[in-house]
Amino acid sequence: MSSLSAKIQDVFNEPACERNRGKDAKARKEGCSKPLTPGAAAGGCAFDGAKIVLQPITDVAHLVHAPLACEGNSWDNRGAASSGATLWRTSFTTDLTELDVVMGQGERKLFKAIREIKEAYAPPAIFVYSTCVTALIGDDIEAVCKRAGEKFGLAVVPVNAPGLAGSKNLGNKLAAEALLDHVIGTVEPDDAGPYDINILGEFNLSGEFWMVKPLLDRLGIRVRACIPGDARYLDVASAHRARAAMLVCSTALINLARKMEERWDIPFFEGSFYGITDTSEALRNIAELLVRKGADPEILNRTQTLIAVEEAIAWRKLEAYRRRLQGKRVLLNTGGVKSWSIVHALMEIGMEIVGTSVKKSTVEDKERINQILKDDNHMFEQMAARDLYAMLSEHKADIMLSGGRTQFIALKAKTPWLDINQERQHPYAGYDGIVELVRQIDLAIHNPIWSQVREPAPWDCQPAVVDEPPGTKSETATLHTVQEFTATMADDFGEC
Ligand code: SF4
Repeated sequence: MSSLSAKIQDVFNEPACERNRGKDAKARKEGCSKPLTPGAAAGGCAFDGAKIVLQPITDVAHLVHAPLACEGNSWDNRGAASSGATLWRTSFTTDLTELDVVMGQGERKLFKAIREIKEAYAPPAIFVYSTCVTALIGDDIEAVCKRAGEKFGLAVVPVNAPGLAGSKNLGNKLAAEALLDHVIGTVEPDDAGPYDINILGEFNLSGEFWMVKPLLDRLGIRVRACIPGDARYLDVASAHRARAAMLVCSTALINLARKMEERWDIPFFEGSFYGITDTSEALRNIAELLVRKGADPEILNRTQTLIAVEEAIAWRKLEAYRRRLQGKRVLLNTGGVKSWSIVHALMEIGMEIVGTSVKKSTVEDKERINQILKDDNHMFEQMAARDLYAMLSEHKADIMLSGGRTQFIALKAKTPWLDINQERQHPYAGYDGIVELVRQIDLAIHNPIWSQVREPAPWDCQPAVVDEPPGTKSETATLHTVQEFTATMADDFGEC
């Protein structure tokens, strides 16, 4: 644990993080988020965070050294997509039992599991995750991985981020440290070129990076490694030969970008592929960084031309929705997705933002939202479920964009809802992605179900006054069948 403590302190002391720079040494040591109680469900544990970052590396076997439940808790909880390899979706765990713990069999079982995976699947690498139980019993996964790697002649990477170490976000960063310590820089590519870039913190959710990659291909820019979305082990291992990098999710992987810049002189910028303006800006920044690192300046003109063509196409497609969505009010409760990018994108087509959560936003993110909205009253750190419900049921928003956890609040308030978090079904990145997002919003808002569910229920309607003398049939008849009951209801109630 002592090396883990040192690693955690190193991660907490992130100089590239502006918020961190503003803290004194003592506050910095305590980290950004309060560590969770191990096993607490809210937000996930450090192991969960490490698994989120590494599991999308698709040709690797991910072996969880733990009792069974840890793997069940973390397996494939993001909608990342693969263009080929499928091994990442096979679940591997040492499935430690109480007997293994009591008899001290953990390390032996781990070694055996590594051998079994090697023989059955022959992957290019096996990532071994420590967890609360195996950290507490003191299993030395680094030593086992080293020994197994030497014996079996393959990369066996220890990921030292047990759940008890802290929050999910800390786990994201410890996963990056595992890549820096054991993977990146271990393979020398024979085809490095002046147009090679890395994309960091891009998870390829619903395959959305595939909406962007063709644009880079057309510019002659090669993605040496997209970490982690749809990544292959050898691409990650040779990522140190890229000339520039774009950091998509800084909250998760800023330490990876900063350390790659320091170790291998790979400059990076933080950007986003959500929305027309941000996609164009990202392409421009990539081209500029490559030119700074020696690429032919002619790429700047090519990039400008491509941006002009693609923007025109996207705007033409969006025009069809502008009339239908202009002035519609959106409530964003996004959590992980960069809310400033989405805010910007929706305002580009004339929608009104009535509120956006900034709980996980960085200081810079908040500053950007402030600039876009020109009013920080629309930002909220966190909104209780009852406040969300009140806002939606009072029709202060026409649609809520959020993650699955809050969907039922919207549905209960009879308000359209669209999933834009990690479990989303549709890709929203790049020029085509924003068109898809707007199309999905239009479908959700104009779905005819809403006018139907908003109609008052029959039992909430006033019964019509029936002017009949006592003793007539309608007062005394006994109802025998559903048809009779329904027919009588229809007769008895007035217009709803
Ligand atoms: S690593 Fe610890 S906190 Fe995380 S799922 Fe396993 S037991 Fe729970």
